[in-house]
Amino acid sequence: MPSANDLYRLVYLSRNALRGTGAPMRKEIEQILAAARRNNSRLGVTGALMFNAGCFAQVLEGTHDSIQSTFERIQCDPRHSHVTVLAFEPAARRGFGDWSMAYVGEQPIASDEFKHFELESGFDAAKLTGERVFELLREHLLEAEAAAS
Ligand code: FAD
Repeated sequence: MPSANDLYRLVYLSRNALRGTGAPMRKEIEQILAAARRNNSRLGVTGALMFNAGCFAQVLEGTHDSIQSTFERIQCDPRHSHVTVLAFEPAARRGFGDWSMAYVGEQPIASDEFKHFELESGFDAAKLTGERVFELLREHLLEAEAAAS
């Protein structure tokens, strides 16, 4: 039984069900991020979201209960489908402790590598690991931070 303070990490992939491109699409993503940041900071949930035209990948970190309640809402969201959990397990520390929800999408490298994931795996979650997706999101976030400084 998880204790109330144990740290957990959930990693999932899903298919984008948003329509449109360009500015309308960006607006939809901004709305998702705004709700995520508002709710996550209240619950002590941190993480990162990656988006490209086809898929979302997201890492959620927090207590077992806070992740569970957050993920229950996310799973029901019609803006994506085929939600596939790659990992939900205890974590030693947060990988995205400074972000209520970091956004890692729409970067050329991230998109290319993510596309590769999609093609390579045929969206077969058995061929991906939560650890790999977690590392990928962290790598791209650190790269973006270094580029911005
Ligand atoms: P509001 O944001 O006020 O929304 C009210 C209701 O309307 C909700 O049921 C919502 O799902 C629905 N809704 C709002 N806008 C739209 C729209 N454009 N199309 C269809 N339905 C809509 N939430 C988090 O709290 N944390 C996260 O980390 C998080 N990550 C997400 C990642 C992805 C890929 C997606 C698609 C959604 C994510 N969400 C996240 C949003 C989540 O699914 C819920 O929409 C949100 O938690 C509801 O927040 P709220 O109760 O403040 O309601």
